[in-house]
Amino acid sequence: MQNNRSKLRSGETAGAVYPPPPSGVVLSLVAPCYNEQDTIPLFYEELCAAVKAMERFGVSAEFIFIDDGSTDETPKIIEALSEKDDRVHYAIFSRNFGKEAAMLAGLQTASGDFIAMLDADLQHPPDLLPSMFEALKDGEYDCAGTIRTRKGDSKLRSALSRAFYRLINKLSDMEFIDGAGDFRLMSRQYVDAVLSLSERNRFSKGIFQWIGFRTKWFHYENRSRAAGDTKWSFRKLFLYSLDGVVAFSSKLLAIASILGITLFVLSICAVIFIVVRKLMFGDPVQGWASTVCIVLFCAGVQLLTTGVLGEYLAKTYNEVKRRPHFVIRKQK
Ligand code: UDP
Ligand code: MG
Repeated sequence: MQNNRSKLRSGETAGAVYPPPPSGVVLSLVAPCYNEQDTIPLFYEELCAAVKAMERFGVSAEFIFIDDGSTDETPKIIEALSEKDDRVHYAIFSRNFGKEAAMLAGLQTASGDFIAMLDADLQHPPDLLPSMFEALKDGEYDCAGTIRTRKGDSKLRSALSRAFYRLINKLSDMEFIDGAGDFRLMSRQYVDAVLSLSERNRFSKGIFQWIGFRTKWFHYENRSRAAGDTKWSFRKLFLYSLDGVVAFSSKLLAIASILGITLFVLSICAVIFIVVRKLMFGDPVQGWASTVCIVLFCAGVQLLTTGVLGEYLAKTYNEVKRRPHFVIRKQK
């Protein structure tokens, strides 16, 4: 088994020497953390309890906390945990790079035969891990995924996310499951496949679908956060959804072209109509209002389609630059 920690694409601490991974079946528990000072101690306790429950499977664990540039005491708490518990490893980002980057760093760091990813706010119940592990241990499945209910979400947020799933399922060739989250237990083979997709614009929900494999789904009741607030505003969620659509469908470009062609055909018809009217009835000056409407409409459609093109171009530009997904300030 290979220790992936040396693969991390960060600057300063690359090349550090790590202890060899423990023997037996190793389970890596990965958690992205951003300003989670109040939740991490509780989260750590629940993780330890879940790992204890899995000892009967001969599992030993390593904990990987990725601090995504927190501005509170999160890094200190993580460092203190790793001082007292050898199983705890961490990477601290130089700034906030976003949850996707933190999840990627966690997967790259994990050295286990099985890798679980959980939010640090206890909205992903660690006590589900033993049954998820049972589904994977014999190799029948490569991933145990979870689907949460929408209990406790505001009506507006549930309606918007349902609309997003309908839209992305229409636009993309893959099936996105409403409520399926990032809380997963994955085999090493599955994680290696996830890591083999090197794109900058990472949309994990899409990546998990794209790589395939057999996934067993587990359902759980939505929980509220143990403490603190969600880091996702409507604006952030909207931009994230847009990223997802652009990353996993190019149909928006096709729609823009179809719109362009339709308008072109309509304008040819309008020209024919105007010429015929002139020949039959002369040329009375009228219709400035409709002219302005048409001009505004066409300008709007042009801006919209240019915007769609711009989105794809911007994403392509980001891919071409090949900047690292994150920079690590400190790791262990
Ligand atoms: N998170 C992160 N970077 C961010 C935002 C969030 O690492 O920029 C982490 C956060 O600490 C938590 C998980 O991602 O462990 C989910 O975030 P949050 O609870 O805010 O999202 P929600 O559950 O509301 O979707
Ligand atoms: Mg949460």
